[in-house]
Amino acid sequence: MTISEKTNAIRNRMDIAAQKANRNPNDIKLILATKTVEPEAVREALIFEKNFVAENKVQELSRKAPQLKADKVEFHFIGHLQSNKVKEVLKYADCIQSIDRIGLVDILHKQLSAEGRMLNILMQVNTSYEESKFGISPEEAAALASYISQHETLRLNGLMTIGKFGGTNSETQACFQLLCAVRNELERLNLPNTRLTELSMGMSGDFELAIATGSTMVRIGTAIFGERIYPDSYYWDESK
Ligand SMILES: *Cc1c(COP(=O)(O)O)cnc(C)c1O
Repeated sequence: MTISEKTNAIRNRMDIAAQKANRNPNDIKLILATKTVEPEAVREALIFEKNFVAENKVQELSRKAPQLKADKVEFHFIGHLQSNKVKEVLKYADCIQSIDRIGLVDILHKQLSAEGRMLNILMQVNTSYEESKFGISPEEAAALASYISQHETLRLNGLMTIGKFGGTNSETQACFQLLCAVRNELERLNLPNTRLTELSMGMSGDFELAIATGSTMVRIGTAIFGERIYPDSYYWDESK
């Protein structure tokens, strides 16, 4: 299958999973996770009226985003964001899904205030409690969300998580259910500037389960672009 055909096949599987869960397929976005994929190959997957591309590393985003500018793409950042790369990532990202600490909120707010604009963000929650994963712990999520809501440059639209690495179906589902529970807890706080409509969860191996559990954004790489040469932990580690 070509990349376009694989993209279509994934979208079909997403729609079927949504229908099985009595959900509207239009409520679930396909985010192309394009780390290590060159722009020519990414372009083959841009088959929808509106397309979503996500990168893990700022350097890769700044190299590739300008080459895809003409292709009606909304760019998301899903990797660990180092504070010294905030200015650079803001040149290209329409949404940052990986907000995980107060220090990052401060730096983003300062820069966005200087630029006089707002940014859509999601908060990354570490639902698997794995040390290798970034994200705020579920217990600290309310405090971070409340802090974010006090900064008018940041629009918190929901939560993102990565399911347990190599987990069983039920372990992965527990991660997704925990993200829903955190969302419900935050909703009860009635925070200003906060919507919490998006749940970004599900990857190539678990997106149907994620859709059954309430996902509104699935992030797909391998199932469309093929296997990567580096392990995922490489992209989740800020020191590399
Ligand atoms: C790579 C990556 C994905 C996509 O993973 P696949 O298994 O290749 O579909 C999703 N989310 C994040 C944060 C990633 O780094």
